[in-house]
Amino acid sequence: LVEAHGITKSFGDQTVLRGVDFTAERGTATVLLGPSGSGKTTILRSLNVLETPDAGRVRIGDAAVDFDDLPRDKAARRRQIAALRACSGMVFQSHHLFPHKTALGNLLEGPVQVQGRPVDEATADARQLLERVGLAGREDAYPSQLSGGQQQRVGIARALALKPEVLLLDEPTSALDPELVGEVLAVVRDLAADGWTMLIVTHEVRFARDVADQVLFLDGGVVAERGGAEVLTDPREERTRRFLSRVL
Ligand code: ATP
Repeated sequence: LVEAHGITKSFGDQTVLRGVDFTAERGTATVLLGPSGSGKTTILRSLNVLETPDAGRVRIGDAAVDFDDLPRDKAARRRQIAALRACSGMVFQSHHLFPHKTALGNLLEGPVQVQGRPVDEATADARQLLERVGLAGREDAYPSQLSGGQQQRVGIARALALKPEVLLLDEPTSALDPELVGEVLAVVRDLAADGWTMLIVTHEVRFARDVADQVLFLDGGVVAERGGAEVLTDPREERTRRFLSRVL
């Protein structure tokens, strides 16, 4: 479902990604691990084209962009990028909710304003999603009336409300108090069990072990090791082993 090939990205004279290749199958959870600054966030942002890679190709479902060969025509380029962006939903470290909108209102914004879906239908879907993340009955609460964990769960539901093909989660628990981490990880685990395709950046290695169908270990701007959850327990590469011994 997701294919990244040769993704390269520099910021000024710092090269962060040096040819990142991977694929992720539909219905699987892929965990991206690696030292701080190894480019995990930049990969997710490249898939969602919040960053424009300097080179490489990204395909999600039927949408593809070849960053080595972008259409010259500005409108065509914008259309191609918008189509790719629409295939993924991003969950950020902190939730970025609209403070003046209720939980339900936050979920409706994208589907109704951006996708132009009928309000009734979008509302029914949004209520179901809030229930899915354990927030039935809190539809009318404003973000300030919710705990950090609840806010982050609204953030996850909001990304799902756009019906993306793949959910991109960038350290979804790193901004939370420790006692709130579990409830958010539980929701992510349930969504994985439901068959959502997900790419997850996380430092929660134990959670990663539970949820990962595929593990990508990033180091030096490339995928240094890849495999199933066994990468977390029995890594082949010395640098993966070193990293895990530090974080476990
Ligand atoms: P962490 O685990 O600390 O979140 P990461 O692996 O997700 O790290 P990235 O956030 O992708 O790493 O960042 C990789 C490198 O790129 C870092 O050195 C960062 O400072 C740099 N970087 C990321 N975004 C930008 C930007 N917009 N402008 C300049 N430098 C950037």
